[in-house]
Amino acid sequence: MNIGIAGAGLIGRVLALNLLQKGGYHITLFDSDTAYGEEPAGITAAGMLAVFAELESAESIIFDIGQRSIELWPGILDQLRISESFQQEGSIITAHPQDVTELDHFIASLQAKVPEAAKIEMLNREQIAALEPDLDQHHKGFYLPHEGQVDAQVFMKTSADYLLAHPDVTWHEGIRVDRLETGTLVVAEEQYHYDWVFDCRGLGAQVEMPDLRGVRGEVFWLETPEVKITRPTRMLHPRYKIYIVPRPHNRYIIGATEIESEDKSPMSVRSSLELLSAVYSMHSGFAEARILKTTTNCRPAFKDNLPRIEQGEKITRINGLYRHGYLMAPAIVEQALNEGIRRKKR
Ligand SMILES: Cc1cc2nc3c(=O)[nH]c(=O)nc-3n(C[C@H](O)[C@H](O)[C@H](O)COP(=O)(O)OP(=O)(O)OC[C@H]3O[C@@H](n4cnc5c(N)ncnc54)[C@H](O)[C@@H]3O)c2cc1C
Repeated sequence: MNIGIAGAGLIGRVLALNLLQKGGYHITLFDSDTAYGEEPAGITAAGMLAVFAELESAESIIFDIGQRSIELWPGILDQLRISESFQQEGSIITAHPQDVTELDHFIASLQAKVPEAAKIEMLNREQIAALEPDLDQHHKGFYLPHEGQVDAQVFMKTSADYLLAHPDVTWHEGIRVDRLETGTLVVAEEQYHYDWVFDCRGLGAQVEMPDLRGVRGEVFWLETPEVKITRPTRMLHPRYKIYIVPRPHNRYIIGATEIESEDKSPMSVRSSLELLSAVYSMHSGFAEARILKTTTNCRPAFKDNLPRIEQGEKITRINGLYRHGYLMAPAIVEQALNEGIRRKKR
């Protein structure tokens, strides 16, 4: 089958990799950016697989989808020979002593959504220090089992290398798809016909999905040898929540803001003050960290902040992965392909 995919960001790549693993497909990718460009939200993401922690502000359905994705990620990363880019050693959530009620409220809200959250263990100072010695100044925290992360930047780079080199893939870089119709991608009024087409343009699909919106997110990349945190760690605060996601070479992603705006311009002073003061209050070793860069992007989301798969005749649209692209992409793609195949058989 000849498959046309509009948008080679996170979903487009996971979809292409899934089809290549099945075999029997030629895939043509179109992206308005270059293969190594900064346009996809997937390159900005921290890559956390936060099945529990994200439930506070999401529907319980993301728990099941997230669990399935966590099962699928190792196979995808093996396909790219970057299995070390997957980590699943749980995550930690903590708060300053004056904010521990935030912590209790947070955990109670997860437990109200999924029974599995009852297994979340409360940690005292010694238990926190046993998991993460550098967090020994925190008196109370929770350990969220099963959570983990994918190194999003390694995934994006390596998937580009793999797909560009694959004999069954054609990648049109810097080509904007204007619209999709039954089995057809339209580029500057020229039509490209396929057995099936997929719309994976993220926020770029707004023209055809008008209820799609962008939610701005800003992150810092810091580097310091003075902090050793090995797991994704969140700190709750009445005004802002931050996460620290460790990366190789003493690097940390500090994020992320969540602003109802489609503005992708550089980070604001307010966001930088909030993120940096929060991370410094979490661990004073960040005082001398070097700021490597800041990045900003927009998460594609619908009003209900839930993912959507729209199936039509020879066309599937996958979008609205919001804050949960890494958490959900493999399972959502699997679901979209299963539904598409059922439809084709009918
Ligand atoms: C700051 C931040 C932190 C995040 N952290 C996490 C996290 O820790 N865990 C997690 O699970 N998720 C996280 N996410 C969310 C995740 O990045 C998104 O949900 C995910 O990237 C959405 O995937 P997508 O493929 O739909 O869109 P994208 O990754 O944005 O890809 C869309 C692609 O379509 C292309 N495109 C757009 N318009 C056109 C067009 N007209 N023609 C051709 N190509 C087009 C774009 O160039 C892009 O390559 C984060 C997002 C942000 C912004």
